[in-house]
Amino acid sequence: MEKSQLDLESSREMFLFVSRELQASKDYLTDLDKAIGDGDHGIGMARGFEAVQKELENKSFDSIGALLNSIGMTLMMSMGGASGAIFGTMFRGGASKLNEENKFTSRALAQMLMDGLDSVKSRGGAKAGDKTMVDALEPAATKSRELADVPLYQALIAVSEEARQGMEKTKAMLANTGKAKTLGERVLGHADPGAASAYLILKYMMDFATASEA
Ligand code: ADP
Ligand code: MG
Repeated sequence: MEKSQLDLESSREMFLFVSRELQASKDYLTDLDKAIGDGDHGIGMARGFEAVQKELENKSFDSIGALLNSIGMTLMMSMGGASGAIFGTMFRGGASKLNEENKFTSRALAQMLMDGLDSVKSRGGAKAGDKTMVDALEPAATKSRELADVPLYQALIAVSEEARQGMEKTKAMLANTGKAKTLGERVLGHADPGAASAYLILKYMMDFATASEA
């Protein structure tokens, strides 16, 4: 059955699913980073989400905020590098107003993405168009705010599609931050690896919420 919202236990299961799928995406993400960076992005994300998987297994959380905060802390501590701080901040910032929430709804998704985006932008200083994960996260967050009252699976279908399109658009962007900046026009035609990771996190959340079994 498609899920219109998730209780705490199902939310934990969703992020366990996301963790396994991100680890399976390691080579794809590393190939993207080989083209315009130093080739470690998939390795970092896989390490981070392996640690998240271990953290979430056999644990229960008393709110959506506590769950998201734990994911963010674990990513920060296990990944290192620019993206450990960035993706950790996305989850920790996203958790900040969900400490009283015990259901993952479309409204919670919107809160997580809007607050996560704000935190990433203030911490990392990247803005839309700089060829970073912000280019996938920002359109996704905007769409999620419009869809805060629809069933969760429906919101995630549209929100992950926005992120996918945002990631696609990074192919036409020059980089203003990080190692890709030094490559100038050689980055054209290549998607930003962090934007791909932001998209994949949302895509795997969508896959979980739309799955027909269980
Ligand atoms: P590193 O740059 O340390 O090698 P990764 O390769 O793991 O780290 O991650 C690179 C990704 O991090 C980029 O593709 C980009 O999306 C994201 N990123 C880097 N700096 C920022 C920033 N200031 N704001 C948002 N995202 C960023
Ligand atoms: Mg890298």
